[in-house]
Amino acid sequence: MSSNHGSFLESVSRNFDKAAAHTNLPKGLLAQIKACNSVYQMRFPVKIGKEYLVVEAYRVQHSHHRMPTKGGIRYSQKVNQEEVMALASLMTYKCAIVDVPFGGAKGGVKISPREYTEGQLQAITRRYTAELIRKNFIGPGIDVPAPDYGTGSREMAWILDTYLSMKGGDIDAAGCVTGKPVNQNGIQGRTEATGRGVFYALREIVSYKDDMAKLGLEPGMEGKTMAIQGLGNVGSHTGLISAAEGGVKIISVAEYEGAIYSEKGIDIKKLLKYRKDNGTIMGFPGTKKMKSRKDVLEVECDILVPAALENQIRVDNAPKVKAKIIAEAANGPITADAEEILLKKGIMIIPGMYINAGGVTVSYFEWLKNLSHMRFGRMEKRFNQNTYNNLVSVVEKLTGKTISQKERNIITRGADEIDLVRSGLEETMITSYGQIREVLKRKKKINDLRTAAFVSALNKISSDYLALGIFP
Ligand code: GLU
Repeated sequence: MSSNHGSFLESVSRNFDKAAAHTNLPKGLLAQIKACNSVYQMRFPVKIGKEYLVVEAYRVQHSHHRMPTKGGIRYSQKVNQEEVMALASLMTYKCAIVDVPFGGAKGGVKISPREYTEGQLQAITRRYTAELIRKNFIGPGIDVPAPDYGTGSREMAWILDTYLSMKGGDIDAAGCVTGKPVNQNGIQGRTEATGRGVFYALREIVSYKDDMAKLGLEPGMEGKTMAIQGLGNVGSHTGLISAAEGGVKIISVAEYEGAIYSEKGIDIKKLLKYRKDNGTIMGFPGTKKMKSRKDVLEVECDILVPAALENQIRVDNAPKVKAKIIAEAANGPITADAEEILLKKGIMIIPGMYINAGGVTVSYFEWLKNLSHMRFGRMEKRFNQNTYNNLVSVVEKLTGKTISQKERNIITRGADEIDLVRSGLEETMITSYGQIREVLKRKKKINDLRTAAFVSALNKISSDYLALGIFP
């Protein structure tokens, strides 16, 4: 195992300890919160052509203080036990920060998905699911996976189907996994959720005049410059929504094949189409090629969005970071050592355990939808519409004035599932930031958002443990 992987778990551990020092919690309780409760390491065979492939995979349940446990499944050649443990731990704190009532978990399958056909990936996914079922590591009340790096709604549908084939009588079976396709018991708005959550959080964060003044920035999203590392699900939606709804100017983007820059701004929608057609972002009209894909992290901009993998900003490149704000759309992109350097430079770091929590928040809505066996909005949409229509009619009658049909349609619209999902996500990101900012303001010795977010999480998790009681 390379030291790089070890350092991710170590970074999480150091960040935990730094925050724990600001709480009055008993040592033993902190140790219990920090430890991974269950680690399941497996090896299973899958037939690829005429060969047998032995697949190394994991599922880690970090904390059982709330059930079920929750977290994505990563497909990557770099997967290893410590990485999955670090990611599972982050899920616990993340869920606590946004008041999503789950313990944290994470899964990892050590494969490079690019190397396999769709059929082979399906075989690997189904076998992994069967292993989880066999050891009671999956179920709507036990542990609920979701997409992560290298997986998406397609894999989630295979997981559900495998679960259904083995647990057919379970009426709540659809809640055994989230991030499913909408027509397979998924929910509208889950795919964009993490990126949209990043946008709602940023919009809230930059609205505080005093906080922005400290960074030498004006409040508001409009016109802020942004650089994005990674155009996967999270990076692409963060860019699309920040540009379309926030008026942000994206000046640099990096992907697997390299990095590009344009002072005038890059149209992300067109760039995504260009990449689909050409298989690369390089050569996108109006942009300059950067020397290395890592250069995106050193671009002078207002907001840097690392949306790829962990350990991207380290001691070697941290001194060269010129962004004013870093929004950790990925999990753990900044090492603990690098963070100290960045904080000394006065950079505002928004921790991933808060800012990328939109995915798990909408996963929670999906799980609730699955348990209620009904889509959001079905009961009340028309009722609300009729009520608003009656109200408008009364106002028209009383004033003697009428409004246009177009205006009426806007005012009287009842909420669809997507409206409710977005509203719930917006509320979650705003309220959680308020709680974190409150800790930062109240505790004078804390001067960074990660420590404040951690303290907020530790207080919530510890109060659960203390209320539950611990076996004597
Ligand atoms: N993999 C995502 C994360 O790291 C989503 C997890 C989920 O929806 O359960 O937060």
